[in-house]
Amino acid sequence: MTSPLVAEGAAMTAFRSVMLRVHQAAERSGSKPERVRVVAVSKTKPVTLIQQLYDAGHRYFGENYVQEIIEKAPQLPQDVEWHFIGHLQSNKVKTLLGGVPNLAMVQSVDNQKVANHLDRMVSTLGRNPLKVLVQVNTSGEESKSGIDPSNCVELAKHVKLSCPNLVYSGLMTIGMPDYTSTPQNFQTLSNCRTEVCKALEMPEEECELSMGMSGDFELAIEMGSTNVRIGSTIFGPREYAKKQ
Ligand SMILES: *Cc1c(COP(=O)(O)O)cnc(C)c1O
Repeated sequence: MTSPLVAEGAAMTAFRSVMLRVHQAAERSGSKPERVRVVAVSKTKPVTLIQQLYDAGHRYFGENYVQEIIEKAPQLPQDVEWHFIGHLQSNKVKTLLGGVPNLAMVQSVDNQKVANHLDRMVSTLGRNPLKVLVQVNTSGEESKSGIDPSNCVELAKHVKLSCPNLVYSGLMTIGMPDYTSTPQNFQTLSNCRTEVCKALEMPEEECELSMGMSGDFELAIEMGSTNVRIGSTIFGPREYAKKQ
């Protein structure tokens, strides 16, 4: 067993190495490193580890279980920018928004119902408009998360035109059902962006692409990702698959 102190030192070393690799991948792709946000995915990991990255200046953290994020967020500074990246049920929207005043973005909007719930709850709570990404299922395999690429324009349009308290900010994908991704998945998401931006007459720079995880974030950045979600490469392997 490793002691918590050893684990914390390891996370800092891994984090610095990830930031360097992100920087280099961004330079290779010809985009500015500042254009790529690194969301440190801290699910199942203790608040003390998150605090270490925070103390080193990092501000973007991601969680994908409502219960977990509402427990952790109040224990960390208010200027953390939390990203919710997990499957979100409409009946959990109130708990999520009420429990995390500093929620910066929901990356996983994949149906109109949840978009409508988010929109109404932002208004009810008197929050600032909330940034959201539309999650796309780019693998075509059966999966409960993400809309079919052929519906991405419709949902993006709904968020942009019918949800005044949400800010449509782009697209997100996981890739394959086993939480890996392929270059084809990234290409599909990029194609969705082209279609959405054309339909909504918005510049592509205003439409983020959230793609790339521990195993493939460099490739994702080279293919245009503006937001990578990195968990195990920073924090170490997760010890168990947590049930929602
Ligand atoms: C857990 C998770 C990640 C991070 O996965 P790693 O492979 O550990 O980097 C990224 N995105 C989503 C949606 C996740 O649930």
